[in-house]
Amino acid sequence: MSKRQELMSKRRFETRAIHEGQSADESTGATIVPVYQTVTFTQDAVGQHKGYEYSRSGNPTRKALEQCLASLEGGRYGLAYGSGMAAIHGATQLLESGDHVVVADDLYGGSFRLFTQVLPNYGVRFTYVDGTRPEEIDKACEPATKMIWIESPTNPMLRLIDLAACGEIAARHGCWLVVDNTFATPFLQNPLALGAHIVVHSTTKYIGGHSDVIGGALIVDDEEMASKLQLTRNATGGVPGPWDAWLTLRGTKTLAVRMRQHEANATRVAEFLLGRPEVEQVYFPGLPDHPGHQLAKKQMRGFGGMVTIDLSGGKPAALAFCQATRLFSLAESLGGVESLIGYPWSMSHAAFPDEEKRRKGISERTVRLSVGIEHVDDLCEDLDQALQAAANTG
Ligand SMILES: *Cc1c(COP(=O)(O)O)cnc(C)c1O
Repeated sequence: MSKRQELMSKRRFETRAIHEGQSADESTGATIVPVYQTVTFTQDAVGQHKGYEYSRSGNPTRKALEQCLASLEGGRYGLAYGSGMAAIHGATQLLESGDHVVVADDLYGGSFRLFTQVLPNYGVRFTYVDGTRPEEIDKACEPATKMIWIESPTNPMLRLIDLAACGEIAARHGCWLVVDNTFATPFLQNPLALGAHIVVHSTTKYIGGHSDVIGGALIVDDEEMASKLQLTRNATGGVPGPWDAWLTLRGTKTLAVRMRQHEANATRVAEFLLGRPEVEQVYFPGLPDHPGHQLAKKQMRGFGGMVTIDLSGGKPAALAFCQATRLFSLAESLGGVESLIGYPWSMSHAAFPDEEKRRKGISERTVRLSVGIEHVDDLCEDLDQALQAAANTG
């Protein structure tokens, strides 16, 4: 550990987000990490370079982002990818033909598509279990199991999975625990500290935070694993460009203040919706009667900015509600400063068969809100008029 790294590791989250990996540029003194928009790096003599040769293998802007994200997750190594899915695919490239993965079935739709439609062609097998019951994960592990793959809180029903229990199961079976930490963000949850081996992020969401850049990252603590990931990423090429890395790094600087506001707004929105007759059920881990509330308090430092609801008026009400909001844009994605509304049944979770969606608790009356950081009174007023509009169509 260098002196600087040692110093940084003692600093707090907000400070690391702004400074880690981001010292003044050595050649010019530029205070902010420059966009190194270059393919290649000139060598003084054959093999004599300053640590960079070609931007697929390494780029200084990307490296700043990687160091920052690694620090925020409490891992030694960060790897940035061109998208969350590229990062997820990158993690699965640690697998070989014949390997088996146990997956908590409340899974991002794109991961499900990769696991069901692409990776089986390479001889990797997947078993899906209810991740809220760690004993099911334990039972599904076989000698060939190399990975346990979970998300918490889950999408869109915001269920909590016990990360420490999964870490203990992974240790006992000698396999890796992979946690997709996109919904929680490193501000609220650090899976490596709870026994995970790989943390996955779609930086497209809260980390980038402004819905203007696609990206992904893996954070690991094991050196051998990091070099294997680096090798496969260089061999397969799924890197982000310097501009995208720079935008993501800029987003990261304000992650803490944004997450506090997302959570404060989501809490108010959840309480507002709880009192409405048009709303049958509110799913938000911050509500005391949410089944995962205690676990969230144990393994997270907050409850996040996502709120899911079931409308009393069924499918027609849900569809009308999605159309009637004015501030909440009807759009895929989440985690940006602006509020979004989504209809999981045929949007984010379209890749799942209907029975599968029902088993997860997603119905045709389910609506997912990514609560932004606009003024919360404006958000509640928008939801109020949209609920009234939805009730009138019913
Ligand atoms: C969006 C998302 C992904 C995929 O990320 P992209 O950046 O869209 O490729 C993976 N996992 C979760 C939980 C997500 O929300």
